[in-house]
Amino acid sequence: MAQALRQTPVDPRRADERYEELKRILEARRDVLAHEVNGRLRVVRAEHEARPHGGADFGEIADTDMRDDIEFALLEMKAETLNKVHEALVRLEHGRYGYCHECGDEIAEARLRALPFAVRCTPCEAMRERDFLRAQAEARRVAPLFDARG
Ligand SMILES: [Zn+2]
Repeated sequence: MAQALRQTPVDPRRADERYEELKRILEARRDVLAHEVNGRLRVVRAEHEARPHGGADFGEIADTDMRDDIEFALLEMKAETLNKVHEALVRLEHGRYGYCHECGDEIAEARLRALPFAVRCTPCEAMRERDFLRAQAEARRVAPLFDARG
């Protein structure tokens, strides 16, 4: 049960408000992305149709191909993000969106607004970064031993 993940009992009205707020955040993100994906698709299609068939020298063809590749990569990236937003909306419907993977606590709305696919709450993320930095410092402390032998 998703509710079991919550460490503190949630007032149902507050939970509703949070749900509505998260839904608004995700839907706004989805609308922007969908708009961008559709816009790009139109551009790619229009350019494709406007392209003169024959007559272009090799340089021109290479330029257009490269621009197409970039357009396509951008399009793919946006479409992928759009997919993730859809998945997040589904998780939200099932009460599985917006909870920290580490401690199960609610991830702050401000954090989700900035990073809709954040999987950790701010304290857990900070702890993880600290662990990472400590591991890096540890690695640096060990490394000079090898240098000294050279
Ligand atoms: Zn956490």
